[in-house]
Amino acid sequence: MLDSLVKDNIKGLLPYKVKEYTDIIKLDANENNSAAYLLNEKLCEAIMGLEINKYPDSDCTELRNMLAKELNLDARQIMVGCGSDQLISLIMSAFIGNGDKMLTHIPTFGIYKIAAQIEGGITVEVPLNEDFSFDLSSFVEAMEREKPKVIFLTNPNNPTGNVIPREQITKIVQLSKGIVVIDEAYYEFYGDSVIDLVDKYENLVVLRTLSKAYGLAGARVGYGAASGQLMDILYKVKPPYNVTSLSQVAAKVCLANKKVLHDTVKETIEERGKMINSLKEIPNLEVFESHANFVLCKLNDAKGVYDYLLNNRVLVRYFGEEGPLANCLRISIGTKDENAQVVGLLKKLMSS
Ligand code: PMP
Repeated sequence: MLDSLVKDNIKGLLPYKVKEYTDIIKLDANENNSAAYLLNEKLCEAIMGLEINKYPDSDCTELRNMLAKELNLDARQIMVGCGSDQLISLIMSAFIGNGDKMLTHIPTFGIYKIAAQIEGGITVEVPLNEDFSFDLSSFVEAMEREKPKVIFLTNPNNPTGNVIPREQITKIVQLSKGIVVIDEAYYEFYGDSVIDLVDKYENLVVLRTLSKAYGLAGARVGYGAASGQLMDILYKVKPPYNVTSLSQVAAKVCLANKKVLHDTVKETIEERGKMINSLKEIPNLEVFESHANFVLCKLNDAKGVYDYLLNNRVLVRYFGEEGPLANCLRISIGTKDENAQVVGLLKKLMSS
């Protein structure tokens, strides 16, 4: 009976399952392993003052004011979400209906396609070049052919770590007759952004998250910036009280303590350089340049290497044997010690 009730576009979806491991070096989800507990004392203090019996501020007023000041935007131009995942879903629910097209590049973050499918949308994917750089001319061709209502570009891209130059993003925003979303989840590890352009282009949305550089993945806080007109539309589909008061407090503590952010980002970038150099020395392993807090490698037997690392209590991300990420592993940059361990294990396995 349930089968006849469920929407057709949902039938083909699989639940997003994440296996939990204990006692493991976790380098599979691009979290910030160095930031763990650094702000706990300040967090506890801030949480002590909370009236948890009351609903949270539905509009995240203080948090948005802090972000608006930092970004030189009006608070009206900002929305906070339960992770940027929620903002991705809200954009789809506002702009994508049955049969509407969403254009993105491949490979990229898998949630865009799922969120579009939930709304009945059709995802069109433009392959990146073989070295994972962005193929502007194919993308523009696809825009003209498919006339997408929504475009998603990830900058820096997950899981490849490559970036799209600012002029190319600007060109796409100018040419697009639909909404263009630039997902800057890994912005802090790159440093270049187009968030300043949201005042200029009413169809541009920039997404960011506190889950990566800020080390706040457990609190689920992301934010979006756009023109006031575009945000007025998105606020129509935002669920009330979508960010818990605990999460709002945690985000405010993080934003007020930028030194932790700057120190961990600096360390991650240094460690990323070291990791890439070390991996380059390993035979039969190709490592791609990265502007994020992870590196992507191509190997002959990615599944075998993944299993070997797992047996040694190191978890990385494996993408299966099909498609452009066949035989690829993504390794998040962890603490100095964790990075040394994963490099040591790979050297031991692959240089012998
Ligand atoms: N965008 C990209 C490109 C990501 O890699 C991720 C997390 N893996 C997200 C968005 C979602 O982040 P969150 O929901 O934790 O803010």
